[in-house]
Amino acid sequence: MAKGKTAALICTASIVLLLVIGFIVVGMAEISDYVRETGTSAPSDTDGTTAAPPESTSPATESETAAATEPVTEPVTTEPVTEPPLNVEIRVMLPDRSLALVTGEESEILFEILTNAADQMLLSASSTNDAVVTAEFTASDAEVHEIKLKAVAVGECAVEIYYDAELLASVAITVSDPPETSAPKDLPAADFHNEIDPSKPMLAMTFDDGPGNYTDELLDILAENGARATFMVVGTRIAKHEDTIKRIVAEGHEIGIHTWDHTKLTTLSYDEIVEEVDSVRRYIRKLTGVTPRIMRPPYGSTNDDVKKASVNEGFLIVRWNVDPEDWKTRNAETNYNEVMSTAKDGCIILCHDIHKETVESMKRIIPDLIAKGYQLVTVSELLEYSSTERVPGEIINKR
Ligand SMILES: [Zn+2]
Repeated sequence: MAKGKTAALICTASIVLLLVIGFIVVGMAEISDYVRETGTSAPSDTDGTTAAPPESTSPATESETAAATEPVTEPVTTEPVTEPPLNVEIRVMLPDRSLALVTGEESEILFEILTNAADQMLLSASSTNDAVVTAEFTASDAEVHEIKLKAVAVGECAVEIYYDAELLASVAITVSDPPETSAPKDLPAADFHNEIDPSKPMLAMTFDDGPGNYTDELLDILAENGARATFMVVGTRIAKHEDTIKRIVAEGHEIGIHTWDHTKLTTLSYDEIVEEVDSVRRYIRKLTGVTPRIMRPPYGSTNDDVKKASVNEGFLIVRWNVDPEDWKTRNAETNYNEVMSTAKDGCIILCHDIHKETVESMKRIIPDLIAKGYQLVTVSELLEYSSTERVPGEIINKR
C-alpha cells in the first residue's frame, strides 16, 4: 500500500516536473520570440547593409517614374519649332509704319527680315480688310521683301505680316479719293520740258549724296529759274526726307540711284551690287510711282559686275565730266567760279546738295548758266537729245 502511494507520488511529481519543464521551455521560447520581435530592431538600425537598400531603391523608382512620365510632357518641348526663333527681327521700311494711298493706286510695302533661319521662314501677309486694300505677298530669298498693295476703296485697314501664325508687324493703311485740285505749281517745269530746243546748248546739273537738309532750298532755286536737275539719292537718307523725294518728282526733276548706303560697288559681289541698286529703285517707286533708270556709282567706281548688273537690271551708269569738287572746297564763290569756267554744252556737272555752300552757290550758278544760253535739263533729257544712243552697260561720261 505505502509502496503504491509512493509510486503514485513519484508519478505525480514527475508529471508536475514535466509540466514545469514544459512551461519553462515554452516560456523561454516566447521570451526568445519577444526579444526577437522587439529587441532585434535596435541592432538592425545600426546595420547599414540592411537599412540602406530600401532607401537606395526608393529614389531609383522615383526617377524611373519621372522618366516614365516625361514622354507625356515631351511633345510640349517641341513647341519652339512652331514659334519664331528668338533672333527674328523685322524692319518695315516706312518711318511710321503707315501708308496713305488713293483709290485705285498700287503700291508696295518693303520690309527686311533679319534672322539666322531665313530658309525656315514661312512669311505671309494679308490685309485686315480686303475691301479697302488687297495685299499680295511674294516670297523671296532676298532680305528685302515686298508686299504689293492695291487700294480698292476709301477706308482704313492694316496690312499684317506674319511669320507662321505669329504677327510680326502691322502697317496702317489709309485710302482716300484722289484730290480734285490739279497742281498748277508743277506746270512750269512740265512746260519747260516741252520747250527744250535740241538745237540750243543744254547741260545737266546733278546732285549726289542727298536728300539732305538743303535739298528743299535747292528745289526752290530751281523752281524760281524754271530749271531742272537730277538728284542721285542714297537709300538710307530717303526715310528722313520722303516729302522732298516726292517734291523732286512732282516738280519735274529726275531721281537717280546712288546706292543704298554709298558702298563702293567694286568691293561687292554681283548679287550685292544688284541689291544696292534695286533696293533704292523699289523704295523710290513705292514713294513716287516713278522708277529711276539711271545709277551713279559712289566714287565713280565700276567693274565688270557693275556693268553686268546695269545690263541685266536695265539701268544706265552715269558719271560726270565736270567736277568742281564742291565737297572739298566747301566755298560758294569757288564753286561758282569752277562751274562757270568749266561748263560746256552736253556736259554733266557733279555737285552735292548735302553741303550748304553748294546750295548757296546755286543761287548764282543756275540763273547765270541760263543767261549764258544753257538749257538746264535732267540727265535723261540730255541723253534723249544726245546724238549718241546710250545703252545699259556703257559708262556714260568717263572722267
Ligand atoms: Zn557720293
